[in-house]
Amino acid sequence: MEPDLHARLAAEIAARRDSLIALTQDLIRIPTLNPPGRHYREICDYLSDRLSAQGYVTALVRAEGSPGDSDAWPRWNMVARRDGARPGECVHFNSHHDVVEVGHGWTRDPFGGELDGDRIYGRGACDMKGGLAASIIAAEAFVAVCPDFAGAIEISATADEESGGYGGVAYLAEQGWFDPDRVQHVLIPEPLHKDRICLGHRGVWWAEVETKGRIAHGSMPFLGDSAIRHMGAVLEEIERKLYPLLATKRTAMPVVPEGARQSTLNINSIHGGEAEAEPGFTGLPAPCVADRCRIVIDRRFLIEEDLPAVKAEVTGLLDGLKAERPGFDYSLRDLFEVRPVMTAADAPVVRSTAAAIERVLGRVAEHVVSPGTYDQKHIDRIGRMKNCIAYGPGLLHLAHQPDEWVGVQDMADSALVMALVLADLLG
Ligand SMILES: [Zn+2]
Repeated sequence: MEPDLHARLAAEIAARRDSLIALTQDLIRIPTLNPPGRHYREICDYLSDRLSAQGYVTALVRAEGSPGDSDAWPRWNMVARRDGARPGECVHFNSHHDVVEVGHGWTRDPFGGELDGDRIYGRGACDMKGGLAASIIAAEAFVAVCPDFAGAIEISATADEESGGYGGVAYLAEQGWFDPDRVQHVLIPEPLHKDRICLGHRGVWWAEVETKGRIAHGSMPFLGDSAIRHMGAVLEEIERKLYPLLATKRTAMPVVPEGARQSTLNINSIHGGEAEAEPGFTGLPAPCVADRCRIVIDRRFLIEEDLPAVKAEVTGLLDGLKAERPGFDYSLRDLFEVRPVMTAADAPVVRSTAAAIERVLGRVAEHVVSPGTYDQKHIDRIGRMKNCIAYGPGLLHLAHQPDEWVGVQDMADSALVMALVLADLLG
């Protein structure tokens, strides 16, 4: 890389500071709430207009038939591509444009995009409209400095990441948008912070376990069979056997926070017996033995584990109870599963981003893995694209919180890192 390239890119980013702020504010002011999926078309049109004016060829893609897609709430995605002057590789920045519900506790307008000092406030500020804005400004600065670049830049804004990504990246990947012959490097500007490279995430298995019982009058429980007592036995086995086992399963994945550097299990919900009373109902419950009890488990697993073995731990425990506990019967229903992914630390996009972080921030980039999943799962599994990371401005712990904000300087620093990555890979 020529020595003054860094300085020229830095000057172009600095000259666009107001534009970076205004772009972030504009994006926050389009309230793309998911669910149900509001204003998706509006944000895609906004981005498509901005990028086509800069020479990008843009496509609006509706994920027809995907979960949640309807004429009332269509799942719109936007992909923009700008080809360089010479053949080369394609660097793709993928951001989700949806945001989660506002929730309570705000002291700022969640869709005001208010600038206060170095911070821009609003739902989606850090997760992840700030990252999307940073990637657009990075590409602008890079093209200004290197108009004759090789290869291509792509910028996408996709739907539904917050609800699994099926109307967004998964759909695009199925349609071939992330095939390795058209895209060679992917950066997802999720708010992992400007000095960290996220290589991937742990795996997920959600399942519903139901225990069976037999209804009877609550005054003569011996005439029935309580599904809740059976579930109690299941929970006891989980406490006694499964949690200690999971605590021994440590991973070499650099998961942050540290507590997630092992297998974990959460019991998301438990329901059994008579349904809870409607709000406003003032009567008493009826006395019945519960004939059904259900829990939903959320197991996060490691790259060192395989999913059939993870499932077998739970079914083994349930089958054990079935063998020894009179009347015990259960069913298990798979709800959702995601394989763990981890891009190699020596993959080209990782090396390039690490070098750029060191140049911009003067410190060694930290390599991390996310405890939960994000759209990289679809790019990896459906798109078969292994050279993919998450890298972007913002603090992860602010995501989905009241008074969410993103720092302007953090966005500017990340944009410079992204511009240097473009210069390195496409220069
Ligand atoms: Zn996000």
